[in-house]
Amino acid sequence: MSKRDYYEVLGVSRNASQEEIKKAYRKLARKYHPDVNPGDKEAENRFKEVKEAYEVLSDKEKRAQYDQFGHTGAGSEAFGGFGGFGGGAGSFTRDFGDFGDIFDMFFGESGRRDHYRPQQGNDIQVELEIDFEKAAFGWKTEIKIPRKEACPTCGGSGARPGTRPSTCSVCGGTGKIRSTQSTPLGHFQTVRTCTNCGGEGKVITSPCGKCHGTGMVQDISKISIKIPAGVDDGTRLRVAGEGEPGMRGGPPGDLYVVIRVKPHPLFKRKGNDVISELPISIVQAALGDEVQVPTLDGKVKLKIPPGTQSETFFRLRGKGIPHLRGYGRGDHHVKIRVVTPVNLSEKQEKILRELGKTLKEENMKFNSNEEKGFFKKMKNAFMG
Ligand SMILES: [Zn+2]
Ligand SMILES: [Zn+2]
Repeated sequence: MSKRDYYEVLGVSRNASQEEIKKAYRKLARKYHPDVNPGDKEAENRFKEVKEAYEVLSDKEKRAQYDQFGHTGAGSEAFGGFGGFGGGAGSFTRDFGDFGDIFDMFFGESGRRDHYRPQQGNDIQVELEIDFEKAAFGWKTEIKIPRKEACPTCGGSGARPGTRPSTCSVCGGTGKIRSTQSTPLGHFQTVRTCTNCGGEGKVITSPCGKCHGTGMVQDISKISIKIPAGVDDGTRLRVAGEGEPGMRGGPPGDLYVVIRVKPHPLFKRKGNDVISELPISIVQAALGDEVQVPTLDGKVKLKIPPGTQSETFFRLRGKGIPHLRGYGRGDHHVKIRVVTPVNLSEKQEKILRELGKTLKEENMKFNSNEEKGFFKKMKNAFMG
């Protein structure tokens, strides 16, 4: 089967960035997608071709292999990938392991797919709800996640305890199949991964009852994680290697923990700043006061100057959230809310009426001249 160069398929240069490859893939995938071209065989083939090229070139490791061993399609370049053909009639042995596709092109075999290479385990994503303070200052905890694990009964071998996987009869335990091919250029001994045993040289004849020979079971795993100070709602933490185990010696996947921060009864968060509201009486607002306000660091003294209006903000520098993976902290902003008194006793009412009679225009604070003008027209019996 003759395949086109993957770079050519995507229409990108050999040193294209991952971003360029992704862009090219998206564009072509949209163009040839079967949903867009129903019944169009040509488009379908192009779509498959594009998808395959992207699968290889978007994977750093696969791309490096592809770059190193030449591509699988276009004639003469394949020779460059092999190297050392100069003598013509020589004998050539090389273990290509999983690069069987090169031989597909070369010897006319087609459609070979190697399912037996080591595979990285799947990534897992979980959500973790944490308190406001823990998000601010970080937290070490243990979480339980459902995850596939090596089977405890067979230790991951897949073979029934007391039995052993037997030597593969196809490859004799080497995991590889050697064959000699004659071509006009000479004799070539090729080495491939044995498909009977997946290259492991052993086959399970008596599978483990617990995992049915897969070597893996679904389990609940406890994982220690360290949440850095300053995480916010939606922060995604990567815990490398704590995903599902790999297959056939492949590396495990990663665990992603998405942080959900519980709302706080007093604090709101804006970036790395904390905002809280402070209710004060009209007397405190008019005469000023010194109060204790709750912050992430406990109570902090705040001086309220005389004549403080509702909605005024006071800043407590450095009392906010620590910067995630950085230095310093945000601020804490206290928003003043002047509370109008209710349920007044007769005496209180009398005092207020007395006060009202004495209030003059200069006792009022306006935000604009328009506001002031409007007020003048509306002033009532309490103000002279
Ligand atoms: Zn075998
Ligand atoms: Zn087992």
